[in-house]
Amino acid sequence: MPQLIAGNWKMNGLSAESAALAEAIEAGAAALACDLLICPPFTQIAQVAAKLRGTAVAVGAQDCHTAPAGAHTGDISAQMLADLGCAAVILGHSERRQNHHETDALVQAKILAAVGAGLMPVVCVGETEAERDAGQERQIVAAQVAASLPENFVGVIAYEPIWAIGTGRTPTIAEVEAMHRDIRTALVQKLGEAGAAIRILYGGSVKPDNAAALLAVPEVGGALIGGASLSAAAFLAIARAAKHVD
Ligand code: PEP
Repeated sequence: MPQLIAGNWKMNGLSAESAALAEAIEAGAAALACDLLICPPFTQIAQVAAKLRGTAVAVGAQDCHTAPAGAHTGDISAQMLADLGCAAVILGHSERRQNHHETDALVQAKILAAVGAGLMPVVCVGETEAERDAGQERQIVAAQVAASLPENFVGVIAYEPIWAIGTGRTPTIAEVEAMHRDIRTALVQKLGEAGAAIRILYGGSVKPDNAAALLAVPEVGGALIGGASLSAAAFLAIARAAKHVD
């Protein structure tokens, strides 16, 4: 299976720069051995999806509501995202869990909504620095996997240690390997054989200079990129470090 390199643009990008970034990524996407996904802010999805329709670069969103439609001022449904041309949606990102008080139960409801609309959920899990310092990271992440994913989950997991996001710090290769093995075990426990085929991305300060080492770790099925996904050159350099994994 090809590794997946996914970009989370977060709350960045006005029209002209988003168009230029999407075009530059698409121009460099040919001949890459990985799957590519970019997740612009809601306001840029329509134009980016229109530009990338029929290309090798898929488009996703960064969140969705649990309901298909209704009285939810300011919210966006999974159906609306699918209608715009989205193929995927990031759910349970730590910035949503922390800043918007999203619980595992809410994340699970959003996953069901996304899958119901035909979107691939990219579900984020990860521990805080205090939890890691207390030696609790394995239990915390296993509990998030168990409580966030519905039965029969189909999608992608992103392991993102919160203390590594946007900080320039990453866990050691051994720590990444250990956590990804734990997540695989939790997935198989929860989902049976299907859990063996789910891609587990690593996210948190992935840059061109550390991508090859992180993407070579067993059970790393790709990467979720924040800051470096706002530069086509950096994002494509990371993507060139990706490969096919069994
Ligand atoms: C993220 O927020 O999903 C992320 C991985 O950010 P960064 O690459 O900037 O650490």
